Amino acid sequence: MTASLASLAGVRARAEPFVEDLSREVHSALAGLKPDVDLQPVFTRHAAAFGDESLAAVHAAHEAAEPGTDDARSARVLLEWVLDSRIGRDLAPLDERCLRWEASARIPLPDGSFEPYQRVTITLSNTPGMRERRVIDDARAALVAAEFAPLRRERLQRERDLWAGAGVASDYIRTFEALAGVSLDGLRNQCAAFLRDTQAIWDEVLPHYLKTRLGMTAADVIRADAGVLFRAREFDAAFPASAMEREVRRFVTEMGASPDANGRVRYDTAEREGKRSRAFCSPVRIPEEVHLVVRPHGGQSDWMTLLHELGHALHFANAERTLPFEYRWTGDNSVTEGYAMLFDHRLKDRGWLLRYTGLGNARVDDYLRSAGFEELHFLRRYAAKLLYEMDLYGGSVPWDSLPALYVDTLSRATGFRYREADAFVDVDPHFYAARYLRAWQLQAVLNESLTERFNEDWWRNPVAGPWIVGELFGQGQRELADEQAMRVSARSLGFAPLVRAVERLLQ
Ligand SMILES: [Zn+2]
Repeated sequence: MTASLASLAGVRARAEPFVEDLSREVHSALAGLKPDVDLQPVFTRHAAAFGDESLAAVHAAHEAAEPGTDDARSARVLLEWVLDSRIGRDLAPLDERCLRWEASARIPLPDGSFEPYQRVTITLSNTPGMRERRVIDDARAALVAAEFAPLRRERLQRERDLWAGAGVASDYIRTFEALAGVSLDGLRNQCAAFLRDTQAIWDEVLPHYLKTRLGMTAADVIRADAGVLFRAREFDAAFPASAMEREVRRFVTEMGASPDANGRVRYDTAEREGKRSRAFCSPVRIPEEVHLVVRPHGGQSDWMTLLHELGHALHFANAERTLPFEYRWTGDNSVTEGYAMLFDHRLKDRGWLLRYTGLGNARVDDYLRSAGFEELHFLRRYAAKLLYEMDLYGGSVPWDSLPALYVDTLSRATGFRYREADAFVDVDPHFYAARYLRAWQLQAVLNESLTERFNEDWWRNPVAGPWIVGELFGQGQRELADEQAMRVSARSLGFAPLVRAVERLLQ
């Protein structure tokens, strides 16, 4: 074994107990098993995991490795992980300040009452009157502009400076590309083309739903109207809370796989004070202990979240134990997000809906059209977010000009009027929008590939599950999303299959 490989073994041995402790702490807090989250002691106890010795070891391995080899792959992924941990520690005080603001801020309304900031999105999507929504959103935007936007702006600037100064490449975008193995420039071009290619469909479908659901026109719709528009509560009864866990377990079982990976996925459905209301997945040890925490309340978005988190959970719980730390815990998150989306997209699959939900033949077509409308909106929003976030982190646009650019880019893509106040708030740090967009593309390729191998109803074909477990989940996150698409289907990632799927849904 060479010196640099021996020192990588040391990096791995220090890294795994750290991420396990961190994950256990986060899981306990979000599941309501512990009153407060206490991350600082974990970072202090495991400081060596991302300390100077680890950084020097992965830098040396990264420089020494022959390009294109497995050693180069490991070194790249570990270097990204060590830098991400160090930058995460440096950003922690700013992140904690933002979290504290979000948890405590209250929006003063003109009638003298206060709306908790954390509840305002839900309140807006449950407020049927357009004028009332305007009043609430004006008050929200004023508070965000005065207090939260400056905190977020400082945090994002600091993130950009830390990555740009990490010694990998000349700026943040090149640094991300080098460490993640992802071409942001390539993806930006795809997003711009996707927005152009789907403009005509969007111009046709948006006014229809605005008119029929809200009685509004495209000229006067703002982002605060989106929640009500997509809420589509008329379908709630087809997605009862009581059937949710039973039906998703039945689906995985019929696919020939274990719905709890033979006990390694632990479903936590108990009602508990302090437990987060949205389902989430916490891998505490990979693959041995993965928690799927659910608080069922029903409705299509609750089913969708459970399916999404189950995709993550089964991925982690079926990763081969023999894979090194970096391929079980880190790597290209477009892969795990792709599996999560492969599962949650069953809610856009006619056969799946008819078999596992209460929709029935009479309503499934209406539901699918509505799902296609929502899918196209989210895709266009994320494509626009990536374009904007590359300008934000790219350095060629002055930060004072970003709010106007944000409003222009997002409003044009979605048809909803966005607000300058949100330009630094509505940002996924560290280009996570790129991970999501590539995951969307990956799930579309995987769905087409599964259909070719196991037929349209692959999700109830008992040979499909073992294939998914062995060929996909078992590999952890060793591959990049585009490498995986190439291996399983000889296709590259792109928006074409997503456009085909949206067109089918909207028929
Ligand atoms: Zn996810």
